[in-house]
Amino acid sequence: MQPPATGEPTLRLEGIRKSYGTGTAHETEVLHGVDLSLARGEFAALIGPSGSGKSTLLNLIGLLDKPSSGKIFLIGQEAEGLADKDLTQLRAKAIGFVFQFHNLLPAFTAVENVMLPLLAARGRPDAAMRTRAEQLIDKVGLKPWGHHLANDLSGGQQQRVAIARALVMQPALVLADEPTGNLETQSANSVFDLLREVSSGGTTFLIVTHDPRLAARCDRLIELVDGRIESDKATPVARP
Ligand code: ADP
Repeated sequence: MQPPATGEPTLRLEGIRKSYGTGTAHETEVLHGVDLSLARGEFAALIGPSGSGKSTLLNLIGLLDKPSSGKIFLIGQEAEGLADKDLTQLRAKAIGFVFQFHNLLPAFTAVENVMLPLLAARGRPDAAMRTRAEQLIDKVGLKPWGHHLANDLSGGQQQRVAIARALVMQPALVLADEPTGNLETQSANSVFDLLREVSSGGTTFLIVTHDPRLAARCDRLIELVDGRIESDKATPVARP
């Protein structure tokens, strides 16, 4: 794979369109030409009404689905035309995912869950992987819990493990879909504080949220309405 071109943004979208049901009587275009660029270290919220296309856009950026037309550049690399193997490699290298439901493996420990992406990339476990996972578990404030099964952790703790797992490959971009959506207020706030804290290392974050208080704490607010970017602006006073 080519190294990233210098000066390229972490993410660049050009004219992204997406239709579902292509070739059927029910073909519907849900994204109508989205242009977007995210620089290194940006901490941005993606907001908009339900059905406006946020998840569709996140899936495209995460290389989990392909646009009907338009271009996606991640760390300077264009996704179109890559073989599946190279797409998988680009995704693993460039992107970390945090979902509302953290998708941890319940019968594995917190540390083992964080090791999984490393294991998938490198084939077999080694001591360095475990050390890296333990460092991240420490960083997300879970040191005493590292060797507990994911199943035995609270919702907020599980989401911290998911954040550590998203960071383990040192991705350029973290995509978070309602990362605090199933947490009560205090836990949601502290998970959000953690996201802000870990973003300070130059990782770019794009966070889908319908919580206006959390969106206001991002540096940039990108609003999607009916499959188009309706507004894109810096938040007046981003509160750390
Ligand atoms: P949001 O995340 O903003 O709620 P979505 O991206 O989930 O929006 O959905 C945007 C539109 O695309 C909606 O009208 C939804 O019904 C439609 N849609 C989403 N996924 C599919 C799919 N797999 N097949 C057909 N239509 C879909």
